Amino acid sequence: MNIEEFINETKKLGIDVTGEQLEKLEIYCNFLLEYNSHTNLTAIKNREEVYLKHFYDSLTLVKSIDLTSIENLLDIGTGAGFPGMVLKIFFPNLQIYLVDSNNKKTKFLNELKDKLNVDKVEVINARIENITSRFINSIDVVTARAVTNLPVLVELALPLVKVNKYFIAMKGNAQDELENSEYAITYLGGKIEDVKEFDLPHDAGKRMLIAIQKTQKSELNKLRPYEKIIKKPLQK
Ligand code: SAM
Repeated sequence: MNIEEFINETKKLGIDVTGEQLEKLEIYCNFLLEYNSHTNLTAIKNREEVYLKHFYDSLTLVKSIDLTSIENLLDIGTGAGFPGMVLKIFFPNLQIYLVDSNNKKTKFLNELKDKLNVDKVEVINARIENITSRFINSIDVVTARAVTNLPVLVELALPLVKVNKYFIAMKGNAQDELENSEYAITYLGGKIEDVKEFDLPHDAGKRMLIAIQKTQKSELNKLRPYEKIIKKPLQK
């Protein structure tokens, strides 16, 4: 996807890209490709793919949620900042938490943050299950793209969400995972609010956005330890 296509496709998402945002994306793309030549951050190695499969794909989250009216967003397993850092560029109002357990990726993100000169971005090098107590019931939108299977992901993510707010999983084709996680979602005090399915431009693949609304407050002492979540995912 070239820049012109990027601008046209994001317009269809309801986003009018500004010159400043394009400049920031250029800095991001250049730094990502340069860093990736010595440190493995992403399998995507050319500009046009970065704009399509990382930048544009990250922005498709707006199909599910209006990000102008929320305060904070936490991105689990953000990798090289997808979708969290891209969303920060387009929604500077947000306090963003970028969480990844991989030290190489969080080091990259801290350097990127300085280059982009963005505020209200906290890069956290941790496994999400180890920071539940800090974020429990406090986040408007928790998201995760291409991170573990949905029944496990829901059990890690939903406790962090404020009551009435959302966990939105960004997946490829995940119909089976969705069916397998219905029990977990209800058990954890959530409900499937909306599922969006679409194709990326250029036949670059199917996408699913699964928005889960939290209906009940989580209690720290009722959450299962990570070992149990992994060993025996919640299922009927
Ligand atoms: N979200 C990014 C993207 O779409 O390009 C990265 C996806 S990558 C396939 C999965 C990332 O999740 C990795 O960077 C990995 O380090 C991170 N990860 C996996 N399990 C995690 C956990 N429990 N807590 C925090 N990060 C985790």
